[in-house]
Amino acid sequence: MLAGYRRFHNGSVGFVPTMGALHHGHLSLLTSSIRKNDQTYCSIFVNPSQFDNQQDLERYPNTIESDLNALIDLGVDVVYLPPVEEVYPHGDHQNVYDLSGLDVAIEGASRPGHFQGVANVLDRFFRLVQPTRAYFGQKDYQQTLVVKRLVEILKLPTSIEVCPIVREENGLAMSSRNAHLSKEEKQEASIIRKTLLWIEREFKRNPHHLQKIIDDAKKQINDHPFFQVDYLLAADAQTLVEFEQGPFPDQLVLLTVVACGPVRLLDNHLIHTDRK
Ligand code: AMP
Repeated sequence: MLAGYRRFHNGSVGFVPTMGALHHGHLSLLTSSIRKNDQTYCSIFVNPSQFDNQQDLERYPNTIESDLNALIDLGVDVVYLPPVEEVYPHGDHQNVYDLSGLDVAIEGASRPGHFQGVANVLDRFFRLVQPTRAYFGQKDYQQTLVVKRLVEILKLPTSIEVCPIVREENGLAMSSRNAHLSKEEKQEASIIRKTLLWIEREFKRNPHHLQKIIDDAKKQINDHPFFQVDYLLAADAQTLVEFEQGPFPDQLVLLTVVACGPVRLLDNHLIHTDRK
């Protein structure tokens, strides 16, 4: 039905794929799309193939009624809410894409199969929606590189638009999973953003000590009783090759996941190095 609807529309289409439990981060992507395109499509689909952990999938928040109200208020043209069987008519069968190793690095190493699952669902959605532009948050930095690579290997005409991270007042990156945090945990989680900014300041002062700075930063977070660093590292912002010392590429990205009990908090920060 969606494909049929799309065929009758010749203007530009912006597409925002989500897993629901919408917050201001999602809404900022939708607003960017509405501004730039004749029509905006939003999908809400909790994609089972990108969850490496069954419990995480089962406890993923669902706020569908308020999501739909928010989408209507914003003026989104099409909301796509497919059942799992429609997206995966052949059951568990998954394509395997050559994502240049971007799928197995860093977050991919912590969550095996995650990015191949993302690629599978986006391949299906992109073919159906045929978006002029598709919108993704910098919040999931590695995902933005994976999606750009996917569009390149599939030779799709869709332009990938990356939107800035929307944060709580205290600097915590907004995420549907933050619903699982207590008020106190949410407040204290400001340590993640603060630590990333601290690394940048120290790095600019003393670029040759990057590894020591990162080690100190990990310790600062691990010393907090609520938090445990899963990973915290600096990588080439294009290739995700990890860097511990110079010479550095033009742009580094600090990537981190900090666990707060069972909740994984993702964040990142881009640094221009002036090639030190
Ligand atoms: P999700 O529903 O978590 O799959 O996210 C759907 C899209 O929203 C992805 O492109 C995310 O990167 C983006 N997104 C999630 N949180 C934020 C945020 N805090 N700021 C900007 N974009 C976000």
